[in-house]
Amino acid sequence: MNQRAESVEKERIERTLAAFRRNRYDVSLFQTREEAADYLAREIAGKRVGFGDSETLRALALYERLSAKNEVIDPARCAQAGGLEAFLAAGREALLTDVFVLSANAITEEGQIVNMDGAGNRIAGSLFGHEKTYFVCGVNKLVKDIAAAIERIHAIAAPQNAARKKKRTPCAVKGDRCHDCTSPERICNALTIHYKKMSYRPMELVLIEECLGL
Ligand code: SF4
Repeated sequence: MNQRAESVEKERIERTLAAFRRNRYDVSLFQTREEAADYLAREIAGKRVGFGDSETLRALALYERLSAKNEVIDPARCAQAGGLEAFLAAGREALLTDVFVLSANAITEEGQIVNMDGAGNRIAGSLFGHEKTYFVCGVNKLVKDIAAAIERIHAIAAPQNAARKKKRTPCAVKGDRCHDCTSPERICNALTIHYKKMSYRPMELVLIEECLGL
């Protein structure tokens, strides 16, 4: 990136963080995933932690980092070990933890967070029930506004997640964008937009200057 492009990107990140602050979020910014993981490990130490399914959290090796000093409930990990019933039980348990950590399908320069979900455990945990919720996002998730966020989900996040999960959906089979399918394996069943921070409990955007997750 040349100097001018770098300064435009810095300005865009600062504008985004200011918008999130105005929307009552705590914000933190890190250059690398390692710095972000160190910060979260310090902040969350000793708490019971629930995860929303996230490639970003996997890229940070956050389960491994937090497990040293926390009980961590990761429904996706439980699903790999024990199948659907283990996933459902862990998904429910993750809603009852002290802290919830997830990423986002998109965040906007106006300070909103947009997530599409299939089973609902991830967005359920993002709304209510925790002492604190952390949204951990790479700058690749940053888009201009809500319309661009939904387009990002249809063109990038949902099709790539469907392919990653080996779903038999048209987007995954054809390797292209959303077809608004009727597949029983559809992963796009509910969309949440956090217009502002939810009331009463703190929520934090942890923004990382790397491309992370889908
Ligand atoms: S609605 Fe169906 S086709 Fe569209 S992204 Fe979701 S799973 Fe893929």
